Amino acid sequence: MANIKVMDASLANKIAAGEVVERTMNVVKELVENSIDAKSTRIEITLEDAGVKRIVVQDNGKGMSKEDAHLAFLRHATSKITQLEDLFHVTTLGFRGEALPSIASVSHVSLLTSDGKEGTFLKLEEGKIKEESSSSLVRGTTITVEQLFYNTPVRLKYLKNLYTELALITDYINKMALSYPSIQFILKNNDKQLLNTTGDGNLLKVIYEIYGIEVAKKMLPLALENEDYRIEGYMSYPEVARTNRNVMTTLVNGRVIRNSVLNRVILDAYHTYIPKDKFPILIMNIEVDPILIDINIHPTKMDIKFSKMDTLKELLTKGIVENLKKTLLIPHASVRTQETIEEVLQNSPPPAPKPFLDFVEDNYEVKENETTQLHFETETMTNRQETEEEETEEVTSNQDAHATIKRMFPVGVVHTTYIIAENEEGMFIIDQHAAAERINYEKYLKELSKETTELVPLLVPLSLEFSNEEYLLIKEKLDQIKDLGIICEEFGQNTLVIREHPTWFVEGKEKETLQKIMEILQREDTFSKEKFIEKTAITLACRMSIKANDYVSIEDMQYLLDTLTACKNPFTCPHGRPTIIAYSKYDLEKMFKRSAES
Ligand code: ZN
Ligand code: ZN
Repeated sequence: MANIKVMDASLANKIAAGEVVERTMNVVKELVENSIDAKSTRIEITLEDAGVKRIVVQDNGKGMSKEDAHLAFLRHATSKITQLEDLFHVTTLGFRGEALPSIASVSHVSLLTSDGKEGTFLKLEEGKIKEESSSSLVRGTTITVEQLFYNTPVRLKYLKNLYTELALITDYINKMALSYPSIQFILKNNDKQLLNTTGDGNLLKVIYEIYGIEVAKKMLPLALENEDYRIEGYMSYPEVARTNRNVMTTLVNGRVIRNSVLNRVILDAYHTYIPKDKFPILIMNIEVDPILIDINIHPTKMDIKFSKMDTLKELLTKGIVENLKKTLLIPHASVRTQETIEEVLQNSPPPAPKPFLDFVEDNYEVKENETTQLHFETETMTNRQETEEEETEEVTSNQDAHATIKRMFPVGVVHTTYIIAENEEGMFIIDQHAAAERINYEKYLKELSKETTELVPLLVPLSLEFSNEEYLLIKEKLDQIKDLGIICEEFGQNTLVIREHPTWFVEGKEKETLQKIMEILQREDTFSKEKFIEKTAITLACRMSIKANDYVSIEDMQYLLDTLTACKNPFTCPHGRPTIIAYSKYDLEKMFKRSAES
């Protein structure tokens, strides 16, 4: 019996309603998905002029019989769906069977295919078979699409945007290669090879083939599990973050999907580790019982709703955050090495990592005397005995899942901005502002999140005057900040007065602190306490920390370094900039080529 069935017309129309083959990218996608469905282990995509002139997709899959080859070009033929209900249980990718006839109607297509028993060659123009013959019995299918859109007005548009088309196709093939590490993908355009994966099943190797060795070295395995979901993949160190959000790839049961909620979860988990406009390289496959998902099928994308989104969010957030915390995230000064992917793979965790629970309980060592628990007394903070004790406790309890930096000793400072320090592992350059900012940020965050706020009375009440507009924006939100200890009284025309303030207000800069808080309050559209605390902590930390060009004594540097190492995340400032850059002893030896003399 033929593999391809002719779908009933009403079903075909339902699907075809949204179906359009309107870009070269759609054509490549359809052909590649057919190749994947045919169980190919090698798929070669050869383009001329980004596919507008010619697209050739050659695979070594199971091929088609003569009958199937004919059926494939019949409108609404599909090998996968016969009933609408089936749409929701489709396990293959190219489920829109009418794609081939659609493609054939806007291009010149030829098909060379064999299932190993018979070989068929078809040539079509305007959707009709013009030539037919038998061909070789080499198993697999080669489809050539030429003069795409030759009979439609859109052709001209694509000829002008070849780079955009090529970028879209490359991104798509990259995602397929990441989704199917066991399939070899080769992508060429005008004789230039853009991708060639080995197809040996190793995901980290695919990451290397797409992003290069520096990125492959900086990937952390993800392996998370709860009752309903299982997540596997890799996430990058913050330092290799990119400006294009396409570097985040999510698969559900092996299929690439787009889900803005999950992207948000990922970015939130990386919050303060990477700058706002950057995205981590992350590839993950979520395994889930199809009962828990609702697939919204659209011809160009897959959108999925998860019915237990909360537990998924929690699992993913926890996994990413733990991973970031337990990894020493100091960017290394780039030293050109000849490291090969084989060496990286050897030093990397296995591609199929251990289940999550074993993973967090990894024999993590707390080095008590090496991670100092001193506290940095900035001009901004009055240290009270009790907070100090509390904080010591928290820092200690926090360390069980936390990577440690060995104690660093300051050597000096350059450009009154960068502290040079060393320890037995190497040399470090620390940005004094970024470091102080991180320390103060964590301190403010802690103070602001306290259940009860201690208040300090002011000898002279503080008053702030606003414009009409400002006052309106602030007034409606004043109630919300009361439980943070900021109690404002209205006092005449557009004026607010406070008579006491929380202890975390910057001493000597109370008015400026209040002003900053009011500025943040004005900008908030909808008030969320959590976001407000976060923004206030970042703003105050930046304003009140030592700046570049501020003089810092060597004793203060030591204090700064010690306090920084005790931070929950000592590696970036709250804006995501790095605080520390490291040159390991090995890096230094390599740069000075010392190994050559020994
Ligand atoms: Zn700053
Ligand atoms: Zn910053």
